[in-house]
Amino acid sequence: LTRVSVDPLSPSLRVVVIGASGRMGSQACAAVDAAPDLDLVGRYDAGDDLGELHGADVAVEFSVPDASMGNVAHCVELGVHAVVGTTGWNAERLASLESLLAQHDSVGVLIAPNFAIGALLMMSFARQAAPFYESVEIVEMHHPAKVDAPSGTAARTASIIAAARAEAGLGPVPDATQSDPDGARGATVDGIPVHALRLRGRVAHQEVDLGAEGEALTIRHDSFERTSFMPGVLAGVRAVGSHPGLTVGLENYLGLA
Ligand code: NAD
Repeated sequence: LTRVSVDPLSPSLRVVVIGASGRMGSQACAAVDAAPDLDLVGRYDAGDDLGELHGADVAVEFSVPDASMGNVAHCVELGVHAVVGTTGWNAERLASLESLLAQHDSVGVLIAPNFAIGALLMMSFARQAAPFYESVEIVEMHHPAKVDAPSGTAARTASIIAAARAEAGLGPVPDATQSDPDGARGATVDGIPVHALRLRGRVAHQEVDLGAEGEALTIRHDSFERTSFMPGVLAGVRAVGSHPGLTVGLENYLGLA
């Protein structure tokens, strides 16, 4: 995914970044700028008028939850595809975006809660492993400034594992409830125990721990730097134009869903 074969005859995609001075937006600007097949044509932050978006083909959006819906709607109305990493896309916001997209049916929007390709692989491997193990628990570790717990990725992984177990005819993880009838060991999501650690020096880390008689399987992913999200952002930018409508989750573009 980091290697790109560039067709010299095809024009570069014109890309703008919204939230360009933020932690994620500044990394996205650098990644787009360095990509031979992409042109960074505009950068926007709080208070800037998005205007005509410099005639962009694709907008990358990493702002704040309350601004994201308005920014993405502006892109859609101009016919600009959008790759969105901002959090806060609840069911109500997704539904109103979907009805706006129905009026602009050539436009594609990707909402990606996690751009780290390793994290998407971790979820895919966890789905594959889940039916074969009696016990499974998730441990996620993040920097102390993270406001939500458990992380969205951990909650999503738990839901994926629970669905894979149900599909295989397995119920909730028995060890989660039998060993903890009062819930003293912590949170569960869809019957899967999820432990959240907040530690200085960490960025974003997750382990899926599976156990059966006499063996254990650990699936672990570590994001040490925000640069780890950028191959996924660029993959989204390159693919969004050929996926009209709303897509939630980069895994859908990568054959990992
Ligand atoms: P940040 O606070 O560093 O940056 C936010 C940027 O948004 C700032 O530059 C600010 O000027 C800009 N902004 C604020 N209001 C705006 C508006 N109305 N219009 C345009 N720009 C506006 O935040 P961050 O750490 O870069 O994170 C941004 C978002 O991305 C958060 O929601 C975060 O949770 C999410 N995030 C997603 C992923 C992922 O993989 N999807 C990874 C990390 C962070």
